[in-house]
Amino acid sequence: MRNFSQNHEWLSINTATVRKSRGVDLPLPHIIEACVERGIGAISPWRDQVVAAGLSVISKMVKSHGLKLSGYCRGGMFPAADAAGIQASDLDNRKAVDEACELSAQCLVLVVGGLPGALAGQAAHKNIELSRHQVHDGIAKLLEYAKSCGMPLAIEPLHPMYAADRSCVNTLEQALDICDALDPSKTGALGVAVDVYHVWWDPKLESQIVRTGKNRLLAFHVCDWLTPTTDLLNDRGMMGDGVIDIPKIRGWVEAQGFNGYSEVEIFSAAHWWQKDHAEVLDTCIARHQQSV
Ligand code: ZN
Repeated sequence: MRNFSQNHEWLSINTATVRKSRGVDLPLPHIIEACVERGIGAISPWRDQVVAAGLSVISKMVKSHGLKLSGYCRGGMFPAADAAGIQASDLDNRKAVDEACELSAQCLVLVVGGLPGALAGQAAHKNIELSRHQVHDGIAKLLEYAKSCGMPLAIEPLHPMYAADRSCVNTLEQALDICDALDPSKTGALGVAVDVYHVWWDPKLESQIVRTGKNRLLAFHVCDWLTPTTDLLNDRGMMGDGVIDIPKIRGWVEAQGFNGYSEVEIFSAAHWWQKDHAEVLDTCIARHQQSV
């Protein structure tokens, strides 16, 4: 297992972590500059932040600073209530692949979606099996396109508390079943993003990481699970502040040959987004060295 205690060469910042500074939106170019100042060599930006700043602006910044993208957030949200919705999702996902290519991201992260309409507060139906079929079909279509562009797709299983509104793929096992069905020869075109926040509780986690193998381990996301957790979406903890044994899980992914970035991804409306982003980034560096 790599020793992270001496430097932060393998730290990546998911830019949602500093989406706000002292409660105010922080534009992506500012985030990038703050990362570069600290010798952080990789980021994983969100589409809304890229769009707000302009894709070409961000692309130039990334290239001029020699930054790597440990991923691009995000594609997915495949299920829809009707054919027009499916078509819109397909088109938007192709666009996400194009943007990821422009930014030379290592993968496009997929949060696959749950029951259509649930995220907006009104689910169109209760048929989660239907959603899972639509996810399968949506990834199958997108994979053909992504392969033609050379952009790997990383399915990110989300904690079951998000099954209704964000992802009906909730375990690594489910994600790998999709990979086996759509990319049986394990080309690396389709794999998974292992986010400790979503999968730490899973009794099958170690065995499913072994099943994943190096070719399908496309991204590794870290933060911590707080007790108590006061908000289902925006109360993630800083590494070391919660109950996840992050080094143990990193050991499992590295035993498979994973040698990429540890991407810090913290949504924290009441705590970290209220602090100055400089303090948050400095804390990420320190905790990357101590607690990852
Ligand atoms: Zn994640």
